[in-house]
Amino acid sequence: MRATGRARSVAAAPRLVVAAAREVRRADARGTAVACALQLVGAVAALGVVAAGKLTLDALLQPATADVGIGPALLALALATALSGSAGSLQRQQQRLLGERVSLRVWDRLLDTTTRVDLATYESAGFATALERVQQNALTRPFLVTTSLLGLGGSVLGVVTMSAVLIGVEPLLVPVLLAAGLPAVLLSRWAGATEFAFARRITAAHRRQVYLRELLSTRPYAAEMRAFGTAGVLRGRYDALGAGVVGALRGQVRRRQWIGLLTTLGVGLALAGALLAIVELVRVGRIDLAEAGAAAIAVRLLSGQLAVVFGSIGELLESVPFLDDLEEFVARAPRASEPGRALPLTDRIALRGVGFRYPDQARPALDGVDLEVRAGEVVALVGENGSGKTTLAKIVAGLLDPAPGVREWDGEEVPAADVRASVGVVLQDFVRYQMTLRHNIELGDPERPADAAAVQAAAERARLLAAADELPDGLDTMLGRDLDEGTDLSGGQWQRVALARALYRDAPVVVLDEPAAALDPRAEHALFRDVRAVLDGRAALLVSHRFSSTRLADRIYVLEAGRVVECGTHDELMARAGSYAELYTLQSSAYG
Ligand code: ADP
Repeated sequence: MRATGRARSVAAAPRLVVAAAREVRRADARGTAVACALQLVGAVAALGVVAAGKLTLDALLQPATADVGIGPALLALALATALSGSAGSLQRQQQRLLGERVSLRVWDRLLDTTTRVDLATYESAGFATALERVQQNALTRPFLVTTSLLGLGGSVLGVVTMSAVLIGVEPLLVPVLLAAGLPAVLLSRWAGATEFAFARRITAAHRRQVYLRELLSTRPYAAEMRAFGTAGVLRGRYDALGAGVVGALRGQVRRRQWIGLLTTLGVGLALAGALLAIVELVRVGRIDLAEAGAAAIAVRLLSGQLAVVFGSIGELLESVPFLDDLEEFVARAPRASEPGRALPLTDRIALRGVGFRYPDQARPALDGVDLEVRAGEVVALVGENGSGKTTLAKIVAGLLDPAPGVREWDGEEVPAADVRASVGVVLQDFVRYQMTLRHNIELGDPERPADAAAVQAAAERARLLAAADELPDGLDTMLGRDLDEGTDLSGGQWQRVALARALYRDAPVVVLDEPAAALDPRAEHALFRDVRAVLDGRAALLVSHRFSSTRLADRIYVLEAGRVVECGTHDELMARAGSYAELYTLQSSAYG
C-alpha cells in the first residue's frame, strides 16, 4: 500500500512541484517576483566574481597585457562580492515574509477541509492522525519547494555560464563535476523516502505527546491533576514517549548523516579531481597561471552551484511525498455547499427505519428507529448510557445522516444543511467560547446581523440575565480563562449560555442533549416547569437522564441498544409497567 503510494508520488512529482510553486505565487505574486529577481541578481553577481577574479589575476600576473589595471579589477571584485552577499541576505528576509504568506494560504486550504468535511469524517479513525501529520510536515513544504525552485533556477544559470568558462580552459573538467552530482540526486531521493516513512511512523507518538503536554500544562486539567496527584504517572508516560521519539529520530538522523556524508564525499572527490587536473594542465604547459587561477575559482564556484542544483533537486524530491499527502488530505473536502435554508416546520420531523453505525464500529449505534417530532411538541429521549440517544439527537439535528433510513422534514427529505440551519442545539460537549457573553449568544445565528433585543430575549429565556448583571461588563464581559483575560462562569452558567445560544436562533426546533446536566435542582426545576415558555412555541427533542424533567414531555421514546423499545406519554408508559416504569421507579425511589 505504501509502495503504491510512493510509486504514485514519483509519477506525480512534476505535477505536485508545479502545483506547489503555483500555490506560492498565488499566496504572494509580488513577493515571488521579488524573490526571483533577487535570485537572478545573486546568480549574475556570482558570475561577476569569477570574471573580476580573472581580471585581478591578469592584472597581478601579467600587468603588461592585462585589459584593466589592478585598482579597477579589485574594485570590480569587491563590488561583485558585495552584491552577491547582499542579494543573499535580502533574499533571506524576503523569504521570511513569503514563507508566512504561503503558510497562511496552505492553512486556508487545510481549514477549508477541516470545516467542510462532515461530522462523520471527524469520527473516523485516521482523520485526526492524518491532520496532525499534514500540519507537522506538509505545511512548510510548498514554501520549501519554492526556495528549492528559486535556488535551482539561479544555480542552473550559474552552472551553465561557469561551465562555459571551464570549457574554454579544459572541457573535461565539466563532465567530471557533473558526474559527481548524479549520485547525490539518487541519494536525496532515498533520503526523501526515509524521511516520509519516519514522519508516518512518528505521528501517533507525536499526537500523544502533545496531548499529555496539554494535560500537564493547561488550566482545564490543573485541578484534577492535583486532586489525584496524577502528574507523576503522566510525566512518566510523557518522558517514555519523548525517549521513544528521540530514539526513532536518532535512527533517522544516522541514516541522513550517512547519506549526507556519502554525498559530500562524492562532491569533494570530484572537486579534488578537477583541481588536480588544473595543476596537471599548468605543469604540462597547456594553460597559464592566470587561466589556472580563473579555472580554480570557476571549479570551486561550479562545484558550489552544482551542490545547490543537486541539493534543490533533492529537496524537491524529498517534498513530493509530503505534497502528495497534503493534496490527498485536502481532496477529502467536499465542495463548498450552498448555505442551508432555514425552513419553517408546519407539520413534523419524522425518522423512518433509521440506522447508524460509526466508522470502524462492529455494532450499529442505531437500528430501525422510527421517531416523530411534531411542530411545537416536546419529545423526550430516555435510555441507559450508550443506548444511542446522542446519536439520534445528532441525526435529528442534521449533524449525522441516517444510513439506512430517512429523515423527513414536513414530509420531504431535505438536505442536511437545511436541517442544520433550521434547528438550534445544545450539545453535551457544547463550546465555551472565550469571547464576550454577547458574542457567545450571537454565534447561535452567525448569519443574522447583531440583534441586541434578540440577545437580551434569549438570555432572559435561558434565565441568564441575573448572572449577566453580576458580571463586570454585563453582556459584554469577556468569558473564560483560557486566554487569560476573561471571567469564568460556573458549569451551570455556561450551560445556560449554551441554551441562550440555541434560543437566539429563530428556529422552529431545538435539540437539547442533557441541557440541565450542570444546573442545580432549583434551576433545573425552574427550567422544566416553564419549559414551554422557554421554548416559545419551538418543538424540542430533549435528551435527559432525569425523569422528573422528561415526564412533562408530550411523548417519550425509550431507547435500548439503539432501538426504540417503548413510546408514549409518561402516564401511558407507567401504565405499561415496562422499561420506562422500571427506570422511573428506580430513580424516584432513590429520593425516598
Ligand atoms: P447515549 O447518548 O445513549 O449514551 P450514544 O449515542 O452516545 O449513546 O452512543 C451510542 C453507541 O455509539 C455507544 O455504543 C457508543 O459507544 C457508540 N459511539 C458513540 N459515539 C461514537 C464515536 N464517536 N465513535 C464510535 N462509537 C461511538
